[in-house]
Amino acid sequence: MAKIHDQADYDRFQKKHDDLYKTEGFYGLIPGRLENEFSVSRCDICDDGTGGPRYIVTGATLRPGNHSFIVCIDCYHYAAFGQLDDQTMIDLDLNP
Ligand SMILES: [Zn+2]
Repeated sequence: MAKIHDQADYDRFQKKHDDLYKTEGFYGLIPGRLENEFSVSRCDICDDGTGGPRYIVTGATLRPGNHSFIVCIDCYHYAAFGQLDDQTMIDLDLNP
């Protein structure tokens, strides 16, 4: 967890997800499989390049086409559960 240190960081993180939903017309993100156990490639959604695992998530939409993204563990958690992992939420005292 390198990029989210406080509520303001978390608000910015959430806005990137909200903007993606609006721009692409997604009504959700479907968490998929592990793509890479360790990578420093930038996350397709939050643009963070902190080393860690990368996962595939797919935008839920009725539009045809490929709506898959390779994302960091934070975006994966957010896609799956609507918040970061529990310990991070507690440690940083974040409002979900
Ligand atoms: Zn991310």
